[in-house]
Amino acid sequence: THFGYKDVPTEEKQAMVADVFHSVAAKYDVMNDLMSFGVHRLWKRFTIDMSGVRPGNKVLDLAGGTGDLTKKFSKIVGPSGKVVLADINSSMLEVGRERLTNEGYVGNIEYVQANAQYLPFEDNTFDIITIAFGLRNVTDKDEALRSMFRVLKPGGRLLVLEFSQTKNPLLKKAYDLYSFTALPFMGKLVTNDSESYKYLAESIRMHPDQETLKGMMQDAGFNRVTYHNMTGGMVALHRGIKV
Ligand code: SAM
Repeated sequence: THFGYKDVPTEEKQAMVADVFHSVAAKYDVMNDLMSFGVHRLWKRFTIDMSGVRPGNKVLDLAGGTGDLTKKFSKIVGPSGKVVLADINSSMLEVGRERLTNEGYVGNIEYVQANAQYLPFEDNTFDIITIAFGLRNVTDKDEALRSMFRVLKPGGRLLVLEFSQTKNPLLKKAYDLYSFTALPFMGKLVTNDSESYKYLAESIRMHPDQETLKGMMQDAGFNRVTYHNMTGGMVALHRGIKV
C-alpha cells in the first residue's frame, strides 16, 4: 500500500507522521477513548504507578501529545517539581496546552516542541521520562533511546508504553480484523480521515516485539530493563534504569 512507509526515505516518513497528527489533533482524545474502549486510561494509570514518581521530581513526557500523562504527573510532582511535555507536532502540542490550561493545570508544566531523536536538554536533567504510544512513530528509534538516556539523571527511569505483539493467535486475529476494518471506519467517521488511521494500524503491526524493544533499550545503555504485558500483550510497558 502507499502507507508502506518502511521503504520511504526518512524525511518522508517524518512528513507523513506529521500529516497524520496535524490531521487528527483536534479529535485525538475522543478517538483514543473510542479505539481502545477507554482502556488506554488504565494503561496510563499503570505507567504512572510504575514510574515511582515523587513530589519534586523532574519529568519528561515525551511525544506527550494532548497531555494525559503530563496531567497526572503535574499533580504528583507538585509546585517544587516540573513536567516537560515535549512533542514534535505543533498541533498536538497546542491542543494539549489549551486543554491542560483550561483544566487548571498550570505552574509546573512546560511545553517544548522537540524531536525525540535530538532532545534539546542538558545531560542528566530528568528523574523520569515517559514515551507513551510515541516511539513507534519515531524514525530512528535507537537514536531516540540514546537521546533519552543522555538527558536522564543517573538513577533515572525510562518508561515506554507502546503497542506490542500478542502471542495469543485468537487475539491477534481479532486485532488484525479490528485494526483494518473498524479502526479506519471510526477514523473516517470521527475525523473524516481514514488514511491516518490506516497508517496507525500499520505502524502498530510493524513495531518491535517485547524482547526486541528490551534489547534496543539495553543497547542504548539502560540497565535492569523489564516489561509488563497488558491486555494479553497487545500493549507492553517497558522500564529501564540509567545506573
Ligand atoms: N503520549 C500521548 C498519549 O499517549 O496519548 C500521545 C500519543 S500520540 C499516538 C503520538 C505522538 O507522538 C504524537 O503527538 C506525535 O506528534 C508524537 N511524535 C511522533 N514522532 C515524534 C518524534 N520524533 N519526536 C517527538 N514526538 C513525536
